[in-house]
Amino acid sequence: MSKKIQAIRGMNDILPEQSAIWRHLESTVKDIVGRYGYGEIRLPIVEYTDLFKRTIGEVTDIVEKEMYTFSDRNDESLTLRPEGTAGCVRAAEEHGMLYNQIQRLWYTGPMFRYEKPQKGRYRQFHQIGVETFGLQGPDVDVEMILMTAKFWQALGLSDQVTLQINSLGSSEARATYRAELVSYLEARKDQLDEDSQRRLESNPLRVLDSKDTKTQLLLADAPSLMDFLDEDSKAHFEVLTSTLDAAGVAYEINPRLVRGLDYYCKTVFEWVTDALGAQGTVCAGGRYDGLVEQLGGKPTPAVGFAMGIERLVLLLEATGLTGEISSKPDFYVVGSGPETVLFADKVRDQLSHAVVQCHCGGGKFKKQMKKANDSGAEIALILGEDEIANAQVTVKYLREQKDQVVVAQNELGSVFAQFCK
Ligand code: ATP
Ligand code: MG
Repeated sequence: MSKKIQAIRGMNDILPEQSAIWRHLESTVKDIVGRYGYGEIRLPIVEYTDLFKRTIGEVTDIVEKEMYTFSDRNDESLTLRPEGTAGCVRAAEEHGMLYNQIQRLWYTGPMFRYEKPQKGRYRQFHQIGVETFGLQGPDVDVEMILMTAKFWQALGLSDQVTLQINSLGSSEARATYRAELVSYLEARKDQLDEDSQRRLESNPLRVLDSKDTKTQLLLADAPSLMDFLDEDSKAHFEVLTSTLDAAGVAYEINPRLVRGLDYYCKTVFEWVTDALGAQGTVCAGGRYDGLVEQLGGKPTPAVGFAMGIERLVLLLEATGLTGEISSKPDFYVVGSGPETVLFADKVRDQLSHAVVQCHCGGGKFKKQMKKANDSGAEIALILGEDEIANAQVTVKYLREQKDQVVVAQNELGSVFAQFCK
């Protein structure tokens, strides 16, 4: 027997029971971003490798070791997108959407990173990302944070996540800070974990991101970026925090929250949870005023965030908030022969919002009723020979103590008005 082919490690199938949770999450979020006036942009999954090298940066984990890069038949180097901002900026610039304009955009879809698969960390994962262009903030930074807070509220996750914010300042302020940080860490280099020692050379701000406990202890006394902010960034941050205060959104200032690249500035934020171990960040965002220019466009202020759908689904599952979300049918039609299928379809026409599952394949009545019960349906519609002869249907309530009734087939609509439009 030949060996069965399995899915690639870290790339998951999402089965119907889970996809019901995904749909609930996605439709909740889409509804909210729509209400804030953001438009959807659909982007390719594959881009030229150079796009990611230039946007994400050569000295990041993503570009150094996580990209799925390959040559196509024309020997062009292409990459499966590891994140969405690069493609979004590329597309917006390519279609002339940026110069002297304001754009509010969102996208969703799979992203690919060659990481060590574990709970909440996969090689194909999914993000919903939101970006704005042409707005200096801090008002729009607040808008984005309020929008994310609305997601958690609508999903019932507000108690599970906390907001961390920081300011990265201008690139000049960060350069001064970087020099201070490097001299502090150089003096303690032998106490740093291996990754951080490497980052100290290539991208020292990323050391602040280290998950190593010993390194974290060292960082507790390291100079703080907050003390190096330029006046403009300081004022920006003050408006951000006071507006969040006015909105009643709680936050923690985390001076170690960073992004390693020079085009990031001012606001950074993350929503984190304790419920998912080391994979605790469910949403991460920040301002990247320098990126469009770095890609050859005119200077364009920009801010955005991305959230990991898998982590949010795990969080919904961990908090038991998935009970209500299901793909259970409302009605299960029991009978035999092709009439059953035709009748089920008439029911769908009459009850346009109901989920109607039809028993196919015949079999004994008792077995069919067991299937009806196991399906989770509220009501069984029974179509026996007598019912067919009289153009009626027997309605049996599966979850309520209610007597079964016989109803004319064409009157189902008035009997079950709650399932109609
Ligand atoms: P982490 O520190 O967890 O590796 P990151 O900084 O690499 O995250 P971003 O590039 O900011 O993550 O992506 C935004 C969000 O996408 C993350 O906060 C997370 O929710 C999700 N995400 C990132 N990488 C993965 C992955 N490999 N599997 C599942 N979700 C992911
Ligand atoms: Mg990562």
